[in-house]
Amino acid sequence: DTAILWFRQDLRLTDNPALQAACRDAGKLLPVYILETDPDPWTPGAASRWWLHHSLAALDAALRERGSRLHLLQGRADECLETLAATSGATAVYWNRRFEPAALTRDRDIEAGLKQRGITCHSSNAALLVEPWDHFNQQGKPYRVFTPFWRSLQPRLEAIVPQRRPSALPGVPRGNGHGLSLEELGLLPEYDWDAGLRNEWQPGEAGAGKRLRSLLETRLIQYPEARDRPDDEGTSRLSPHLHFGELGPRQVLAQLMQHRAGHRSAGLVRAGEQFLRQLAWREFAHHLLYHFPETTDKPLDRRFEHFPWSNAPETLRAWQRGRTGIPLVDAGMRELWHTGWMHNRVRMVAASYLSKNLGIHWREGARWFWDTLVDADLANNTLGWQWTAGCGADAAPFFRIFNPVTQAQKFDPHGRYLRRWLPELARLPDKWLARPWEAPTEVLAEADIRLGDNYPAPVVDLKASRARALGGWDEIKGIS
Ligand code: FAD
Repeated sequence: DTAILWFRQDLRLTDNPALQAACRDAGKLLPVYILETDPDPWTPGAASRWWLHHSLAALDAALRERGSRLHLLQGRADECLETLAATSGATAVYWNRRFEPAALTRDRDIEAGLKQRGITCHSSNAALLVEPWDHFNQQGKPYRVFTPFWRSLQPRLEAIVPQRRPSALPGVPRGNGHGLSLEELGLLPEYDWDAGLRNEWQPGEAGAGKRLRSLLETRLIQYPEARDRPDDEGTSRLSPHLHFGELGPRQVLAQLMQHRAGHRSAGLVRAGEQFLRQLAWREFAHHLLYHFPETTDKPLDRRFEHFPWSNAPETLRAWQRGRTGIPLVDAGMRELWHTGWMHNRVRMVAASYLSKNLGIHWREGARWFWDTLVDADLANNTLGWQWTAGCGADAAPFFRIFNPVTQAQKFDPHGRYLRRWLPELARLPDKWLARPWEAPTEVLAEADIRLGDNYPAPVVDLKASRARALGGWDEIKGIS
């Protein structure tokens, strides 16, 4: 029998249960990727599209090495699958599940439509360690607080094992035309802004494997301390690979366990646990999105629907461009623009600054991140923004407003990160680097800095804007 394998956010051959099942059941296999035009407010942004282009190229190459190839289509997923099933004679479609609200509804409709045509659908879990309908608290309710979620997840980890890469792939059925070429999908930018992305990333399964190996072999032991330092490459940078499913969390878990077994040291065990804890935040975010799908748009804490947000397009633009006059925020926003990624600590600082100091709705920030991050992920981005803005599950208390000056001094103590992204401030002594507006005139002159000219003066005063944010909170905190 012929089957269709519908690749989505699982662009890999190893630990891909839909692929395994299809290889087991089907005589001929048609692997397909559909660039969807179904209505969805969260279609991939520019940086994600760049990534997708290269990841599809890598997947197609891996399939061709095994005598198969990737069939590319563009359109509504239901129509594409129905037509493809009709032309190929496929009697089954295999895919791995997704958890975004629009994808879930759409998948249900697709399954019903295909069933009516006598085509069976088989779905599997490739994306999560534990799926959201399989992990509740003792009251049978979804977790809303991370620590108990993590504690109850830990004992389940031992039983989770990845699947191997299939040793052989069934041949592709004849006579389906060739689909579109990768170029025809039009995923790459029209003008050349992607040099920074090309320098930083290798999309695809091989690039993902390299990142994981590099973490395990050289840096894991330092992870607990280095993970908070934007000036160091202390984290794994696996987030875009995990988002596109070039690597699954089960594989990360298994390799971590294997590594730990080979290097019994208390430091490594602790570091491995810290790393897994971060991976569990990803699980938590996906579970929250599944149980509270409205949170992509609405605050989980409904009081925040009444928060007095500012409408300030010019200040928003200054934040987007890294021109707020607050060095740590500007450095982060420029890192994001150039590389499609931002360090987690700086994401928290930049998000707190937008939603609290600038008083701009967190949704505006979430949208900008969505378009510019290579790891833009609806679950993680929604959680990150709501958490930082103080309106999400297990959020930081609203009054805990990040101070971008002390954060820079603590986590970038030698100013390496700030100097890298803000070369115009490079000559400023460490003491003033995170707060140039407080530097004496002669120090600024010596460093050739003219505030408001070659580096912006702060667009808002940190202290006054903090007080304004707390005033906004006072207005809504009594609402029940
Ligand atoms: P590592 O420290 O190496 O962590 C390993 C993996 O764990 C990550 O790849 C990621 O999959 C997961 N992870 C780590 N921290 C978190 C977290 N706080 N929440 C959820 N998962 C986590 N992450 C995204 O993948 N996509 C997003 O769109 C996204 N938007 C964010 C927006 C804001 C405002 C904030 C504060 C955080 C956001 N994050 C997002 C979470 C986090 O910043 C990134 O996952 C992390 O910086 C990725 O770098 P890494 O792979 O080196 O992380």
